[in-house]
Amino acid sequence: MARKRPERAEENAPLTPEELEEFKVLLQDKRATLLGATEEARKNLAASTAKTPDEVDLATLEYEAAFENRLRDRDKYLLGKIDKALRRIEDGEYDECESCGSIISKRRLFARPEATLCIMCKEEQEQREKGFLKKRHLREETFTF
Ligand SMILES: [Zn+2]
Repeated sequence: MARKRPERAEENAPLTPEELEEFKVLLQDKRATLLGATEEARKNLAASTAKTPDEVDLATLEYEAAFENRLRDRDKYLLGKIDKALRRIEDGEYDECESCGSIISKRRLFARPEATLCIMCKEEQEQREKGFLKKRHLREETFTF
């Protein structure tokens, strides 16, 4: 009878210095890719805007500007999370859940190296957000009358 589950125990063990170094490289790579992609998108947009004739409809330009803004916001958000994760590595708390203090599993960190919550807390947060959205939606419906 296999009472022990070594793969699971290992998964919830704190990261070794070597593993931390691995995650650091992973995060730095992700950061560099993100910055490169943002720069690329900006260049493409600048090129397409430069090509447009004077009589181009404003809606297209507005759409592109909104798209660029959205892209920038999303990238900024992710960059912030990556920087925070890198700081957490320096502070030696990278694999600690920000909310409950338990170990964030290695599998989760590999999937999301910028994660700061364990899977339990993350699910709880998502449930809360969903509940909030649902409530807000209901309230809006009530106000339609
Ligand atoms: Zn947690």
